[in-house]
Amino acid sequence: MELCDKKAIELAGLLKKKEISSRELTESVLKRMDQKEPSINAYISKTKEIALKQADEADRRIRAGEAVSPLNGIPVAVKDNLCTQGIKTTCASRILENFIPTYNATAVQKAINDGAVIIGKTNLDEFGMGSSTENSIIGPTHNPINRDYVCGGSSGGSAAAVASGEAIIALGTDTGGSIRQPSAFCGITGIKPTYGRVSRLGLISYASSLDQIGVLGKSADDCAMMLNSICGHDPRDTTSANVAKPDFTSSLEKGVKGLRAGLPKEYFVEGLDKGIRDSVMNAVKLLEKDGMEIEEISLPNASSSISSYYLIATAEASSNLARYDGVKYGFRADTETDDAVMMYEKTRSRGFGSEVKRRIMLGTYVLSAGYYDAYYLKAQKVRNLIKSDFDRAFKKVDCIITPTTPCLPFKIGEKMADPLQMYLVDIYTVSLNLSGLPGMSVKCGTVDGLPAGMQIIGRPFDEEMILRVASGYEKISV
Ligand code: GLN
Repeated sequence: MELCDKKAIELAGLLKKKEISSRELTESVLKRMDQKEPSINAYISKTKEIALKQADEADRRIRAGEAVSPLNGIPVAVKDNLCTQGIKTTCASRILENFIPTYNATAVQKAINDGAVIIGKTNLDEFGMGSSTENSIIGPTHNPINRDYVCGGSSGGSAAAVASGEAIIALGTDTGGSIRQPSAFCGITGIKPTYGRVSRLGLISYASSLDQIGVLGKSADDCAMMLNSICGHDPRDTTSANVAKPDFTSSLEKGVKGLRAGLPKEYFVEGLDKGIRDSVMNAVKLLEKDGMEIEEISLPNASSSISSYYLIATAEASSNLARYDGVKYGFRADTETDDAVMMYEKTRSRGFGSEVKRRIMLGTYVLSAGYYDAYYLKAQKVRNLIKSDFDRAFKKVDCIITPTTPCLPFKIGEKMADPLQMYLVDIYTVSLNLSGLPGMSVKCGTVDGLPAGMQIIGRPFDEEMILRVASGYEKISV
């Protein structure tokens, strides 16, 4: 096994004992990138020079006997909608093609402070809008398990990089499933923390009340280790929660005995792939054998989550994306006129891809006078109902288990002509963003050679619980 295929937590141990150097490890990842990128296309920018410099610095700290974080010297990939100082941050959009931020996102800065080696910026659906990483200026990222298939999205580049050894661990963002769904499609582990757990400063906004930064890794303990580094209150993000920061690795060994898990009956219905259903149910049986109590629960408003999500997300997107006008940021279309409105129009129609334009139009429509009450306000009310379903369920259970996706990875191009089909891929994930809850995806089986993911949902700020269940499952499933 090459270094780039090992888990972060294991590599942290080897680095600490000086059995390997961060330079060796970083070179192993860079070599894998050279081999795999032509067929995977996980990265928008590679930051080889920066990475090697950070690796040498990490090695120096270890040699000097400094107290270092487990993340010291570990190669990390960063989704390209997270600002990186001096490094192009494009959101996979033409409109930000040449945008170079002057500061790091707080999550990125925290990782760097802990000694992370930033290896590159990963591909995504433009501004996070999509479920397959096909809506990108650099073209689709391919699934490392079978390159004819999509890797999921929108953090597809991060998921594919981790799954192929082109990164040890990665940062992603999740507005409606974008960490959990690509993790499921690439057979890895991903966590979307509670809304407010990780600062959103420097995350380029898609839908601000839903966006959250999280981690994609090879296992629950890798995710816990990285989450330890990036979370915490940030006074520069007013939605960042001022709550205690636990050590997420400390609950991993506790096992699942005595915990209660709910299976929402509305999630195991027609439309769910039979192979995924069987994989999740087998995983649940293993957990039950290990002492977990399983009961059926009901989330009666689940069927409204996709419609309310796509109203709220597009409304917020239309407002957030108004800032890209050719004046303040990035791309400006050449126009022969000095008419400003014409310049805005040309810039926006050429700078944004078709899915982003569709969302801006939908969002503008649902916010417009006369339709606001019928669509946007109603969606907000439904959002509250969805949240109260979860509140009720969590009075009885410690966590909720569902499939991550209703379908297996699909072929590249297969759903591009039908946006509604693409939206339905998020049916099991969006309700957590609407409710602000933490969720994880862990691999729970293989169906026709493709991975199936199980989603574990927790109470607000109880990431420890879902990491514990995920880690417990990983131990009994091997
Ligand atoms: N696929 C969903 C969307 O397009 C979720 C994306 C995300 O979480 N960024 O909105």
